[in-house]
Amino acid sequence: MYLKSKHDHEYECFINEWENLVKKGFSITDTHSHIHFQDYNSDFESMLARAKANGVKKIITIGINYEDSLKAQRLASQYRGIYFTAGIHPSEIEKLQELSIFEPIIVNKKCLAIGEIGLDFYRTTLKKDLQEKVFKGFLNIALYFKKPVIIHTREAASETLSILDEIVKDNNLRGVFHCFSGDENLIDWGMEHNFYFSFTGNVTFSKSCKLRSALKLIPIDRILLETDCPYLTPMPFRGKRNEPAYVIYTLYTAYKMKGLSLQEVANSLENNVNEFFNI
Ligand SMILES: [Zn+2]
Repeated sequence: MYLKSKHDHEYECFINEWENLVKKGFSITDTHSHIHFQDYNSDFESMLARAKANGVKKIITIGINYEDSLKAQRLASQYRGIYFTAGIHPSEIEKLQELSIFEPIIVNKKCLAIGEIGLDFYRTTLKKDLQEKVFKGFLNIALYFKKPVIIHTREAASETLSILDEIVKDNNLRGVFHCFSGDENLIDWGMEHNFYFSFTGNVTFSKSCKLRSALKLIPIDRILLETDCPYLTPMPFRGKRNEPAYVIYTLYTAYKMKGLSLQEVANSLENNVNEFFNI
């Protein structure tokens, strides 16, 4: 297996155990990556080989605007284990076009979800009302096409929840809070409305105690794992470019927090992926 670092003995046992499970056919999915970004142009095939060696059999690559969603679609059409999603990230709204142009992309069989969509009042100075309008528009598209939604929410929990409340009142919406921050209001709301919580590499950082508590608290059947690569590289590779193979280090943290066997954790997580994305 690749990625074994001589300097990190604490991962060694886990790596060996996971390696044995992968030989037996166990796998893990990177539910949120951006592998169609140009960050992977120089080593795309070897990046995929490293993922495969680590038991990452399915990778979902997430669109952040219209052109980018088309790029994600093109990539997914070329590889069996790669799926994609389509949407507009709140900081990409300046590239906004009519949302209806997304419809031919969304009906594609490998388009597993709408996203990433949502509200970001931290990173972007874009008008809140425009972000909210686009978010609502995509939620309605998701309901129409019966697809789940991947929600990015940053410094905007209460606004996100009030929009979701409006939408789910009369509808059945499947959703995940991606790159989950550990926000307690989101946990309460999400648990009540059968939403999922997706954890990324930042849960492995030594300072992320609150986030690990959330991972411990949330039932295993509501958890998804992701890399959000090329961003948020987990320990012990923090500082380097992230890639799907590294999702096993987030798996390691999930395994440590849950107090279940590695088989049980991996099986539950894969069941969640298949159920949530309807694969
Ligand atoms: Zn992302």
